[in-house]
Amino acid sequence: MRYSKALIPTVKEVPADAEIPSHQLMLRAGIMRKIASGTYAYLPIGWRVLKKVINIVRDEMDKAGAQEILMPAVQPMELWQQTGRNVDYGLTMAHFTDRHGRENVLAPTAEEVVTYIAANEINSYKQMPVNLYQISFKFRDEFRPRFGVLRSREFIMKDSYSFHTDNESLSDTYKVMYDTYCKIFARCGLRYVIVEAESGEMGGSGSHQFTIPCDNGEDVIVYTEDSSYAANIEKAAVDALPVVAKTKNCPAIEEIHTPNQKTITEISAFLKENAQNFIKTLVYKSGADLVLALVRGDFEINPEKLRCAAGGTIELADEAAIKNLTGAEVGFAGPVGLAGKVGKIIIDHSVLTIEAGITGANKTDYHIKNVLPGRDFPIEGNNVIIADVRNAVEGDTYKGKKLLFKCGIEVGQVFKLGTKYSAKLNAKFLDKDSTEKPCVMGCYGIGINRIVASAIETLYDKDGIVWPINIAPFEVIIVPAGAGDEITAAAEKIYADLTAAGVEVLLDDRDARGGVKFKDADLIGIPIRITIGAKSLAENCAEVKLRRESEINKIPMADVKAKILQTIEKLKNE
Ligand code: ATP
Ligand code: MG
Repeated sequence: MRYSKALIPTVKEVPADAEIPSHQLMLRAGIMRKIASGTYAYLPIGWRVLKKVINIVRDEMDKAGAQEILMPAVQPMELWQQTGRNVDYGLTMAHFTDRHGRENVLAPTAEEVVTYIAANEINSYKQMPVNLYQISFKFRDEFRPRFGVLRSREFIMKDSYSFHTDNESLSDTYKVMYDTYCKIFARCGLRYVIVEAESGEMGGSGSHQFTIPCDNGEDVIVYTEDSSYAANIEKAAVDALPVVAKTKNCPAIEEIHTPNQKTITEISAFLKENAQNFIKTLVYKSGADLVLALVRGDFEINPEKLRCAAGGTIELADEAAIKNLTGAEVGFAGPVGLAGKVGKIIIDHSVLTIEAGITGANKTDYHIKNVLPGRDFPIEGNNVIIADVRNAVEGDTYKGKKLLFKCGIEVGQVFKLGTKYSAKLNAKFLDKDSTEKPCVMGCYGIGINRIVASAIETLYDKDGIVWPINIAPFEVIIVPAGAGDEITAAAEKIYADLTAAGVEVLLDDRDARGGVKFKDADLIGIPIRITIGAKSLAENCAEVKLRRESEINKIPMADVKAKILQTIEKLKNE
């Protein structure tokens, strides 16, 4: 392609509303433009990059035996009502009523639709295992779209869904997909980390996330130094803290007046007591039941762990329910006296380290002190669950090993779904033994746009983007530096030779100074630059430079083509 004819609107200034390098560079390099909050249009070089990623994903999925399909972006709400996920997705799921009064969903994912297809088309064990995938637009009305396409509202996802007769077959395909994801991210030039993950609103029994370690990532990865364990913070387990032997002579409970002191921060400052001495009490709703969750004041409840401990969907109770339960304003709840009034009490291990704790008095503007777990509220019994339900923090260990933390970007996730969707949507098959069973399912997602942004975010330098060659918009940029027929002719010859050899070349034939061209070449990040200037041309040479290196190599004109082909091959196989 000739630069003079291409729409590559580069910009010098850093766009004001772009907070992180990848977002700034995608705008500055003319890759994309914002159309509305969380919605972007890709310009020619941006679309070239996306297509490269899509091609890699498609190639590896096909090699793994998956079959490509295409499902609609507008889905019937009825299917979502059957699985109950219209509720789970909440406001993130955009929907509209059509002219016939039917409710439609803008696909945020496609488990419901693919299971509906399976329900109709798969009847026998002979048709499985089967793995179906699509690469298509998804829409999620994210609460806070940000960081450009890292969290946008509309994005391209590769989503696949596998159907099996049993868990063993699911495990086989899960492993194939896991390995396929490793190949995909490696081919895209990304350094990734695989972590154990919660399956969240997807449901199911097992999940891994593929994460790109990066300071601006929104996910927190928790790992042991020897890498024997790595998990998303939503899932990361911690060893229970040592429980100190309780003194038998903990004084009796005493009421303390704490007007308007509701949060742990407020009350610990007010009483000049360490947050460690508080029993934080939160009221949740799980179906028709109320659930009390207790954690030590210096820790945070982990909603995913709490959901697992509760054995089902769980959400914070509303103000009215809390007032009704405790008889007090929100902020003064405590476990003493509430055991018989709730469905479950879920107590984090950390609470058991407390000897004479402070907690809400279930009376507006009052707390109580000298609260001893086991004496003043039950720590065993039918409705009591002791579990790990808090977030891991600095200083925690897991299986005796110190936990470390870093941020990351989730680019893909694989799930063992089990029969959650097939049971609800009636996707059954006739097994060998002539019994009818629900299909066992797996699902596997990749964020195409996030791969692009992650590659930029982790590889850029002060001059701009540094593309891995496999997803670069062009492999080579030719920069004729300086005017003159000879320079033009030499540049045109290399352009023609390389293009004929199948290389993707951008020829910067603009009528601009060398400096301007070099700046743009660096900004848009083409991996190999060939410069044709008067000086080297006098020696019948071109100058070849890799974007990621500063060294410039003089190559005789006659060898340029062979040298470039060889360099591309080398970069591709790194
Ligand atoms: P997140 O936790 O970041 O919101 P998710 O776990 O909800 O993502 P999945 O349902 O697992 O996402 O979707 C599969 C993939 O789609 C993710 O791994 C991610 O790469 C991509 N993805 C999800 N949401 C977005 C978004 N808002 N913008 C861009 N890519 C996204
Ligand atoms: Mg995910």
